[in-house]
Amino acid sequence: MATINKNFRKLSAGYLFPEIARRAKAYQEAHPDAKLHRLGIGNTTEALPKAVLDGLHVKVDRLGDAKTYTGYGDEQGDTPLREALSGYYRDLGVEIAPDEFFVSDGAKADAANIQSIFGSDNVVAIQDPAYPVYVDSNVVSGRTGHFDRNRGEYEGFVYLAGTEENGFFPEPPQEKVDLIYLCSPNNPTGAVATHEQLQAFVDYARKNKAVIIFDAAYAEYISDDSLPRTIFEIPGARECAIEINSFSKFAGFTGVRLGWTIVPKELVAEDSEPGELHKMWFRRQVTFFNGASNIAQAGGIAVLSTDGLVQSRQIIAYYMENARIIREGLRSVGLTVFGGDNAPYLWVKTPNGMGSWEFFDQLLTQCQVIATPGSGFGAAGERYIRVSAFGHRENIVEAVDLIKKNLVISKENN
Ligand SMILES: *Cc1c(COP(=O)(O)O)cnc(C)c1O
Repeated sequence: MATINKNFRKLSAGYLFPEIARRAKAYQEAHPDAKLHRLGIGNTTEALPKAVLDGLHVKVDRLGDAKTYTGYGDEQGDTPLREALSGYYRDLGVEIAPDEFFVSDGAKADAANIQSIFGSDNVVAIQDPAYPVYVDSNVVSGRTGHFDRNRGEYEGFVYLAGTEENGFFPEPPQEKVDLIYLCSPNNPTGAVATHEQLQAFVDYARKNKAVIIFDAAYAEYISDDSLPRTIFEIPGARECAIEINSFSKFAGFTGVRLGWTIVPKELVAEDSEPGELHKMWFRRQVTFFNGASNIAQAGGIAVLSTDGLVQSRQIIAYYMENARIIREGLRSVGLTVFGGDNAPYLWVKTPNGMGSWEFFDQLLTQCQVIATPGSGFGAAGERYIRVSAFGHRENIVEAVDLIKKNLVISKENN
């Protein structure tokens, strides 16, 4: 008799995006002529640049000739790609050996799977609000109790709240935890940790033999050179941190699928030797994963070429100009806006202490604009909405103009 993994029943209903779709559909049905504008999506929209397309095309053609055809590739990912990644980090001032990279088909799966090399009794600390995969993967693997609907939190997690007071990047926990998930630049708040803030986490982790799982998927959106683009810029991080990253937002590979995870050889847990966690992730990947598409990997090499980087960064600059247009537009109507300067997300405070969903409804009905309720990313996201800078310029401008023209913010208590 098969039984189920009952931890799945603990998952709080993943109702954020289906609920957004439901409300948008209901509005559209009631107002068939209305044109809805989506500022909610975390998905890239602009075409791949030429240098990257060329890299993809060449690989496809090579697969069409037995003399250049290749099947399964190197276990940790194509060696030229891992060497190019090592060069990319060297340009950031950080030495990572090619065999410390594990090429993946995207960061989300690695973010979900990485917990499997740690003990099931580890105490997990999570930024709040957060990208949902860190929470859900640890719930499903049994590291939490039940979801408390009133508090909007799982029993057993240590939540590190990002608030206006701490600039949406928390301090390390007071209590002892074992795994710490950090995302900088942050989805959803757009906040970026400083060197000092990351150093505090690295110091904490080394003192407590904790491991930091650092999601740097938006590192390329940092324009302020004083901010760290990888946790390995922080002294001591090689002993206590794993970095997960992706070509998705970096180079528009959300559909192409390619990412990487760095597990340094020095990384240790309380009961492991240096090198052991690296070997365990290797073992995990070679038995449970068969590598990213070789076409995607050729595209990744093209992204990291001189032309590929220039052209991919032009597209990032386009999205960041969208972010600037949104920020200025929303501020001009009196909204308080955070983020959007080193990340493609803006974290907007709801007016008059309104709930996230209430403000979502107001934007939908008054302006025909769809944003993402902050409460969907965790309890600390209540009273915020996330606005995404991904989108075609004309749609962004139209949406911002509708907000400027039609949003009515009552002056009381604001
Ligand atoms: C989009 C995103 C990723 C990338 O996921 P992929 O699986 O590589 O597409 C990772 N982390 C965060 C926080 C993201 O928003």
